[in-house]
Amino acid sequence: MYRTDTCGALRIQDKGKQTTLAGWVQTIRKFGAITFIDLRDRYGITQLLFGEDLTKQLEQQPLGREFVLQAMGTVQERSSKNPALATGDIEVNVVSYTILNKSATPPFTIQDDTDGGDDLRLKYRYLDLRRNAVKKNLDLRYAVNRAARNYLHNHGFMDIETPFLIKSTPEGARDFVVPSRMNEGQFYALPQSPQTFKQLLMVSGYDRYYQIVKCFRDEDLRADRQPEFTQIDCEMSFVEQEDILEMFEGLIKYIFKEVKGIDYTDNVGRMSWEDAMWQYGNDKPDIRFDMKISNLKFPSYAFPFKKPAISGELPQGFKVFDEAETVVAIAIPGCSEYSRKQTDELTDWVKRPQIGMKGLAFIKYSADGTVKSSFDKFYTEAQFKNILDATGALPGDIVLILAGTEERTRKAISELRLEMGKRLGLRKDDEFKLLWVLDFPLFEYSEEDNRWVARHHPFTSPRPADIDTMINNSPEIKNAANYLAHPYASIKANAYDMVLNGNEIGGGSIRIFQRSLQEKMFAALGMGIDEALHKFGFLLGAFEYGAPPHGGIAFGFDRLCALLGGSESIRDFIAFPKNNSGRDVMLDAPSTIDEKQLDELSLILKDR
Ligand code: ASP
Repeated sequence: MYRTDTCGALRIQDKGKQTTLAGWVQTIRKFGAITFIDLRDRYGITQLLFGEDLTKQLEQQPLGREFVLQAMGTVQERSSKNPALATGDIEVNVVSYTILNKSATPPFTIQDDTDGGDDLRLKYRYLDLRRNAVKKNLDLRYAVNRAARNYLHNHGFMDIETPFLIKSTPEGARDFVVPSRMNEGQFYALPQSPQTFKQLLMVSGYDRYYQIVKCFRDEDLRADRQPEFTQIDCEMSFVEQEDILEMFEGLIKYIFKEVKGIDYTDNVGRMSWEDAMWQYGNDKPDIRFDMKISNLKFPSYAFPFKKPAISGELPQGFKVFDEAETVVAIAIPGCSEYSRKQTDELTDWVKRPQIGMKGLAFIKYSADGTVKSSFDKFYTEAQFKNILDATGALPGDIVLILAGTEERTRKAISELRLEMGKRLGLRKDDEFKLLWVLDFPLFEYSEEDNRWVARHHPFTSPRPADIDTMINNSPEIKNAANYLAHPYASIKANAYDMVLNGNEIGGGSIRIFQRSLQEKMFAALGMGIDEALHKFGFLLGAFEYGAPPHGGIAFGFDRLCALLGGSESIRDFIAFPKNNSGRDVMLDAPSTIDEKQLDELSLILKDR
């Protein structure tokens, strides 16, 4: 037997026990004639005491960091206890030991605060995974996985696997493709998600499906994306939006409780997509703090749906605002006494290329009611008061104002709001605020292709009230500049996203389940019937055989774990992630393949 206990198990109650431990050497500390060794495994660290004889033996046969060691001995009380360790009251007085394997000197220290940089740690990921900091992330991931499975199982969901080698149907992201040896010149694609399969399973009558499953998308990797990632993917039949919201709100609350011990008893708030855009400047608002956007001016075409009321027109006179398409503001509580240095720094912040604004205007509304601004000479006192009223600012606030083109300015104010929330400590890692965002537009206009694209995916159904608008209007866009005037721009989707602390953690929709409407949808996306049949004939065919009404959702499993772990990075929660360029630096993949493999696949590489 290699071991009788793990390195995390022994306590003071075990005093006197004969034990055998096996693990990795974390540290070696020699004190005169005796030696202390910290032995580590997945469960913890136990201090080993090597007495004089064994210390002499060690001199003949030196140990090093990360050697694999088996040690036999007796549990005894430690003279100097270590309250930071679960085993810190005891040590094992070793009587004999065996070196099970040696180790080369690791390229970085296997400790919480390692000296290894990102790439080095990824290259030696198997060593990085020994670190407690990474191990606890994988523990959390497994706990989320277990909780999700329990909940879904208890609600009658069935885990059904779907294939990875499927047909290329690029929509949204780019497919990863796999050449087929047996079918010369033909390719499989890896699934961007099991979307069509889970819908087919509904047609087959498996009315509650789930899978914790890998998805593959060949996208340019923006920060913190992985080309392969994991979803908790679910689908249900005979449901309406409300049924789905209730079921999956339940799932997330269950995970919160099981994994973090959090009782999330509040109902999850709901916000329409347009309110999110108007009030927060993006479709995944962080509602841990308020600081809503005031829309002082915006172009008539901004968003197809309802417009917010503006309290009072922005007066003419200040060229920057007069010439801007959009003027938006946020009132920052308690910051009216910001110094020149602080406002200059914020101005530089909004001018950074990632934010892209030309400048920042501000109004300081002091606690005593006096008003000072960066554009004092252009407006009267009464006009300033009107603007302050419109922003809902209170004495003691500073109002930050951005002006420019609609899209960029709205994005910038959203970023500025998040930044100010962070600076004021309003975005706490240990506070969890969920939100459903509803009523998304069904379509988005693609300038590049001058056509409509599905905002979610082409299987999402329009809201019942908007189906006629879709059926009775042609998708043709005559005037690209005014595409928002097209009836399609105002069609809303039967779709929903779940947002946690400003991150989209899940999204789904009620699906189209009639062949005719699905054909109409493909046509709206500029897909002729031949192309639709070539790509999705299997689904259209299935819809002929009694497809039930259905809908579903998928959660980003990696992101959910990262958020629950209080981290920004999903990579820390994946055992073997890719780096920012999509490479596995440990395997050195992707890599070239040899001529023979290319030959078998009938592939010839183009000279570059
Ligand atoms: N398959 C969708 C996605 O990956 C989720 C869904 O609609 O259920 O985004």
